[in-house]
Amino acid sequence: MSKILRIAIQKKGRLSEKSLAIIGQCGIKFGSDERVLKERATNFPLEFLYVRDDDIPSYVHDGVADIGIVGRNELDEQGLELAVLRDLGFSKCRLSIALPHDVPYTGLTSLEGMRIATSYPNILRSILAENGVKASFVEVSGSVELTPAVGIADAICDLVSTGATLAMNGLREVEQIYTSTAVMIGRKTMDRDEKRAILERLLLRIDAVMKAASYKYIMFNLPVEHIKAVSDLIGGLKSPTVTPLLEEGWVSMQSVVAEDRFWDVFEQLKALGAQGILVTPIEKMTE
Ligand code: ATP
Ligand code: ZN
Repeated sequence: MSKILRIAIQKKGRLSEKSLAIIGQCGIKFGSDERVLKERATNFPLEFLYVRDDDIPSYVHDGVADIGIVGRNELDEQGLELAVLRDLGFSKCRLSIALPHDVPYTGLTSLEGMRIATSYPNILRSILAENGVKASFVEVSGSVELTPAVGIADAICDLVSTGATLAMNGLREVEQIYTSTAVMIGRKTMDRDEKRAILERLLLRIDAVMKAASYKYIMFNLPVEHIKAVSDLIGGLKSPTVTPLLEEGWVSMQSVVAEDRFWDVFEQLKALGAQGILVTPIEKMTE
């Protein structure tokens, strides 16, 4: 039987949809019957295991799955020796300290002697230790925001993305101690495994998808005398494509521009007399 790569993905939660979306953008086809816990892609040697996110690091570590997609927070909290193959960038969140409104805060030392409720004791412990702060922990696996109100904790340390839940519970975010995004993980020793070749194929596609998402394709018309200036400005994969227009003295140029430089480039193009600027997203991209 030919080899198959197994990937562990969160069954239901904040990581699920985007994890499946990125695999889908790699052109990998699979059914979406919500009740299955295991399924095979139809056009790529990949098998999906749908599990709780907490179980993903140990499944990969123990070889139940070969790779997985999990929040970096979960990986660091569990402290298992695993390789981060790619930072996928989505499901961005932060681990923050929050306090009731009437409790003063001037820095991490304000937490000295407090009871802090958290689901991430290991990450919190290492950060407090680095700062020489001693506190006690109340380990809870959910509804952390409730603990100060019911009197079992003085402060909390929890994942935040917008802060709305904190506000609803009368808490204020006073310090961000850690940030997390979704990462693709694997075992450190997969080098000579036959599955490594399948993984390489998958990573090549993932890189193309991620790269495409960070660039835009741009087309515009430009007076010929500014070709050099624009070419220096935008570059391109090799260099921009330049095609003559029927109208004397004008060309059409095409190139790719990194998303984070886009507005800067756009303004400079306008200043150099570019007209009819068209911008489109890129679906896949390699260099
Ligand atoms: P499971 O049932 O699989 O154990 P869960 O309740 O532990 O699910 P989710 O709430 O779905 O997990 O969060 C999964 C991951 O999504 C987190 O570990 C974190 O990396 C990320 N995440 C992004 N934003 C947030 C947020 N606002 N709150 C919590 N986690 C977030
Ligand atoms: Zn979980």
